[in-house]
Amino acid sequence: MPRTHAKLCPSCTIGSLTPTSNPAILNCRHCHGVWFEDGSLNQAIAQQHEFIEQYSHELHLGPALRTSDRLCRRCRVPMTHYQLLTHYTTEIDCCPDCDGVWLDKHEIDQVMHSPRLKQALTTLNQKVTWKSWLFQFLTAMPVEYNIQPHRTPWVTRTLVVLCGLIFGTGLLSPAANEWIFLNLALNSETQSPIHFALQLLTYQFVHGGLMHLAGNMYFLWIIGDNLEDALGHSAFLGLYLFMGAVAALIELLVFDSSQGPLLLVGASGAIAALFGLYLMWFRHASLTFMIIIYQKKLAPHWYFLIWSLINLFGMFTAQGGVAWAAHLGGFMLGLLLGYLLRDYIFRKNPLIAMLNGPEAVVQR
Ligand SMILES: [Zn+2]
Ligand SMILES: [Zn+2]
Repeated sequence: MPRTHAKLCPSCTIGSLTPTSNPAILNCRHCHGVWFEDGSLNQAIAQQHEFIEQYSHELHLGPALRTSDRLCRRCRVPMTHYQLLTHYTTEIDCCPDCDGVWLDKHEIDQVMHSPRLKQALTTLNQKVTWKSWLFQFLTAMPVEYNIQPHRTPWVTRTLVVLCGLIFGTGLLSPAANEWIFLNLALNSETQSPIHFALQLLTYQFVHGGLMHLAGNMYFLWIIGDNLEDALGHSAFLGLYLFMGAVAALIELLVFDSSQGPLLLVGASGAIAALFGLYLMWFRHASLTFMIIIYQKKLAPHWYFLIWSLINLFGMFTAQGGVAWAAHLGGFMLGLLLGYLLRDYIFRKNPLIAMLNGPEAVVQR
């Protein structure tokens, strides 16, 4: 076999393969694809993940799809196209005779992340069970299916604890409750600008009843952890408080002051804004919806569409006691910021970007 053949790139057939710092990994200078020899791909993947000592990507490959046009650089036999993972449609070329693997440039990151992708897709593709059914049947709350965050969600937990503590304090005595509503709730007739600005933040921690608190905190708990992980702790906190403040200002804008002053409490505005971010960044996640006794996993856009329709209905039928405009305004703001920050979030979180691509298959 002439040596020139073995050095010629199997993909573009123009460039030649040159060894990298690892002699078993060769790189095409022309198309930037990479050739992995004799299990060197498994080594490279294991090196990328602290939690893997030995790896065998052959064990995790999806189905063999067809014979490739490319020839193995050593064996000169046609290679085989495989699906990278069962639920990830990227195709890679493997030699049926030796352990050689060819990866195009755009596939390299996906293959290197494949153990994490597999883990994530397994979680996302879980089916509803009797446990998830019973939970939603008893609580009327959705069950969330999303990737496991890497960071501990300290901010999310602190927000939940603070809201709980303030609610608990209000239960201690009527005087304590009155003090909280007088000072921490947002009052449209507050005169001092500084006090008003502070109320824009503090109103988010006050709740009017146990169901109001429990509903808000449950949603914050299930979606806050993923958003905090994607953004980082301080950016998440800043964005949460900012969006909550803007949601209150939107409610003030549409509020009819002839009905008396507006007294606004609750984390709902900020949490509705989190829904918008979540929809933009976690399209692969699912939230369960229950129709009488039938439980179904829904993509976030379907789930939040139904949620928005319920809010629109509430707003136009003018049902009192709920800040519909703060909910919908917060949600719109979240969608806008989620859209503007999408590329930044995807650059920072390659796994989230890969799961948002068309290659990820999520069964609902
Ligand atoms: Zn090439
Ligand atoms: Zn071969």
